[in-house]
Amino acid sequence: MARYPTSLLNLIAIFKKLPGVGSKTAERFAFHLLSWPEKNLEQLAESARTLKEKIRQCPTCNSLIDEAHCEFCDLSRRDTSSLCIISSAKDVYALEETRSYRGLYHVLGALLSPLDGRMPEHLNLKQLQKRLEELPLKEVIIALDSTIEGDATALYLRENLKKEGVRISRLAFGLPMGSSLEYIDGGTLSRALTGRQNF
Ligand code: ZN
Repeated sequence: MARYPTSLLNLIAIFKKLPGVGSKTAERFAFHLLSWPEKNLEQLAESARTLKEKIRQCPTCNSLIDEAHCEFCDLSRRDTSSLCIISSAKDVYALEETRSYRGLYHVLGALLSPLDGRMPEHLNLKQLQKRLEELPLKEVIIALDSTIEGDATALYLRENLKKEGVRISRLAFGLPMGSSLEYIDGGTLSRALTGRQNF
């Protein structure tokens, strides 16, 4: 059986690393790129090449930024009485989209998973502690996935936040167990946020 030219095989191997992309889809993508004008291919390569150069993590909230300052940490424009704890920098955008929340964010970067060796020291907790001490917070909203890891992390946070004397709430999911914030539509997420419950 004839095999694809090496350049195509290389590209297919890269696409297969993307989530949800199997061999067939990767092959389709690679062949599709063959039909792109040179200019677009250069744009694609350049965007991929500079992705990590241009994007940094905000040293305060760990959101992604490509400017000097982080818009989510702008204390003059955000409600400094509430802080929302999320696991991934991507979740910030989902919550912003709901337009139901104007407070601050803190990105943990991961969820606890002792079986995979992910322990509290792998989460961005030191900076969180510092912010809890410095901000005039009234409420901490735990907005983590409704999964085993999400639940374990939420319980850990609750135990550790108790002494801070702030209201602790968690999103009222009303969603099937195992749901990830990333896949929840805006309307449902907005309701989950408004209906959040003491935790
Ligand atoms: Zn920030």
